[in-house]
Parts: sequence; structure tokens; C-alpha cells
Amino acid sequence: MFSDMEKRVLNIIDDNRDEIVKYLQSMINYKTVTPLDGEGAGSDDFIRHQEMISQTLAETGFNVESWDIDPKELKPFPGAYINPERKLEKMPVVVGTLKGTGNGKSLILNGHYDVVPEGIPENWTHDPFGGEVDTGRIFGRGACDMKGGIAAMIQAAKYIKKAGIKTVGDIIMQVVPDEEATSMGTLSCCQRGYTADAAIIPEPTNLDILLAVRGNLSGLITVHGRAGHGDVNQPHWQEGGAVNAITKAAKVIMALEELNNEWRDRPDMKHKYLDPAIITPTIIHGGSWSVSVPEKVEIEFTSDFLPGYDKLQQEIEDKLAALANTDSWMKQHPPELEAGIMYGAETDENELIVKCTFDAISAVNKTPDFIGWGTLSDAIHLVNYLNIPTISIGPDSKTAHEAEEFITVDDLIKTTKTLALVIMRWCGTN
Ligand SMILES: [Zn+2]
Repeated sequence: MFSDMEKRVLNIIDDNRDEIVKYLQSMINYKTVTPLDGEGAGSDDFIRHQEMISQTLAETGFNVESWDIDPKELKPFPGAYINPERKLEKMPVVVGTLKGTGNGKSLILNGHYDVVPEGIPENWTHDPFGGEVDTGRIFGRGACDMKGGIAAMIQAAKYIKKAGIKTVGDIIMQVVPDEEATSMGTLSCCQRGYTADAAIIPEPTNLDILLAVRGNLSGLITVHGRAGHGDVNQPHWQEGGAVNAITKAAKVIMALEELNNEWRDRPDMKHKYLDPAIITPTIIHGGSWSVSVPEKVEIEFTSDFLPGYDKLQQEIEDKLAALANTDSWMKQHPPELEAGIMYGAETDENELIVKCTFDAISAVNKTPDFIGWGTLSDAIHLVNYLNIPTISIGPDSKTAHEAEEFITVDDLIKTTKTLALVIMRWCGTN
């Protein structure tokens, strides 16, 4: 099952469990919470986190490059939404390249070091940025999503090197910000010219292999009305009466629900690993005074859809247009949709990197399943922009984005071992 060389690396990883845990604890200590639009990094924690990563990569022999992303410098690309409102200075990207000894296959390992906010502190019994170890689990925001995966990929390369092994193909490590908001960190790596024969993102997957992620369309539907006195019976709008935008918005929301019902059973919405498309109204703003007829409602929504499907926005717009056609006011004052789109992505289960990872994880843990995610990951840019097979394999995802997020030490070590095996087998060794 394992060669002698592989056994040597797996043993070194076992001997250094505590070091690997400690490394992840230090990463969790840096409060690298994804900022809101218009707000930048609130502290230098992002910079210090990346200094630590850079130092480890440099000590392992990687050539390290680091930069800040300027959204205005990113090139537009279909299905790669660029948000110009993001302030990403002082949230550097770090990329390390370890040149192989020859012409072996190259591998990108990519992870996001930004984390979602910790939420309500009282819901945690461990410090969200403490990295405390308790009953075989390491607690903290980002423990499983996905500083655990980053620690595993970096430590895997470190212990391959410590075992005196060199790979034939190049290893490229990318540690990026802003995945939880825009995925522009990875887009920036792609546009800077970094590519490889395959990529792995150690997002939490419960040691299964993530092959497919849905795309996302999110934005705003503006529904128009006409103001008037709320306590006065109104004539027809064509005779100058007020029009209640909330009543019209109710029709819009029902139309979106009809789309959900349609999509649920439609043959072109079926996928082996993914659910059909869905649209969800998430925030609604409307009205401005308790005795005035509201003249405007804004419905924020999020919608997820299958990879390879590029007609979603058109379909929603057509539905809104059909609705407007049934209502004399909306016919002349149609609802308006503004949205940003990110295409989904998938990798064929017959790709060699899938086979290689399948064998490695089977040897370290158990036979993995193939899975899909309803929500996208940075894989979309590696697949759609670079056109390289990209999968995820990592620890249990149960507590991602929740209070009391953790990774088990066992999952951390298994992920490290799996990635070490995949690196050696994929890139080849001397
Ligand atoms: Zn993640």
C-alpha cells in the first residue's frame, strides 16, 4: 500500500503531530476575519499570518512572492464577478513555488486564510481565536474552514522535504484572502500567471472528494410603486392613485417561488452530485413611513445553479417580465434586476488527480465518496479560468461557520498525510 519512502514521510508526520497542531493554533490566533464591503483589514493580523506562512514556505525551499490585490486591476472574465468595493490592501496573497527536479506533473495547493466572523461570543465555550485543544479537537474560527487545510498542505510539503525527498514536478502553494466574500484572491493568482497540471483546495469535506460546486447569482430586485397617503382610499393608478410597492413585491416573491418549483423537477437541473437551482430572497427593504404608501421595495436575493448553465439570469429576468405583463402598473414600471454572477465548476471523476487522491485517502482513512457542494469555492477560477482539474479534500465540515468550530487532531493529521502522499505520487519523486 505504501512504498518505503512514503512510510518514512508518514512516520515523520506522526512523530511531529504536536508541531502540526501548534502551527494551526498559531494560524487561528491571527484574527483574519473577512471584512465587510468598504471596510479593510482592521488590524495587521492578515499581514502577520502571511509572514508566518511565507517564513515556513521559504524554510522549506519555496520561492515566495506576496502582493496586495487591487480589484481595479483584475481583468473581467465571464462568470468571475469582480467587486470594486472591496478594500484588500493589507490582506496579502502569498504564493510559494518549489521547483521540481525535472519535468514531472505540477500541482497547485490553494487555501483561503480569511474566516467568517465568530458570531455571538456567548455561544462559544472556547476562545474563537484561542486555538485551544480539548478532547482531541482544536477549537477556533477557521479551524476546519480552512486554516486546518492550509496547515496540512504546508506541513505536508515541509515533512516531505525533512525526509530528504525532492519532487520531480513543481509544487505551488497559494494562501489567499477574501474567499468568504469574493474569491478575488484566487482570481488574482490565476491572472498573475500561476498554473499547474491539477489543483487541490483542502476545504473541509469530511475526507470525501469534492468534485462539483454550484455557481451563484446574487443581487437586488427593485420593485417600484407610487407614494400616497396610506389612510386614504386611492383611485386606480391610471387616475393618479398611489401604488403600493410592497403589494407588488409580494407578487415578485411568489414568482420567484414558482421558479423554485419549476426547477425542482426539470430534467436539465438534474446532476449526479448537486441539487437543482434555487433562488432565495434574503433581505427586504421597503417603505419609509408608517402612514405612507411605499413607493419602492428592494429585494436582495441569492441564487445557486449548476455548473455549465449560463441562462439563469435570463430566466429570472424572463419570469419577472412575464409577471410584469400581467399587471398594468408593472408593465409600465417593471421590476429591475441587478446582480453579480459566478459560474460553478466541476471536475470529471475520471481525471488522474481524482484517481491519485482517491487511492491516497483510501490508504490513509477509508474509501471516499464523491460529493458536490451547493455553494461555490475558489475551485471555480482554477477550473474556469485556468481550465485545470481541481478537487477538494479535507477535514470534517460539520462546524464550518458555526459557533464552536473545530477540527479533530485526527482529521488534521489524516489530511496532512493524504496531501503528502498526493504530492509525492502526483509530482513524482527522485
Ligand atoms: Zn472555506
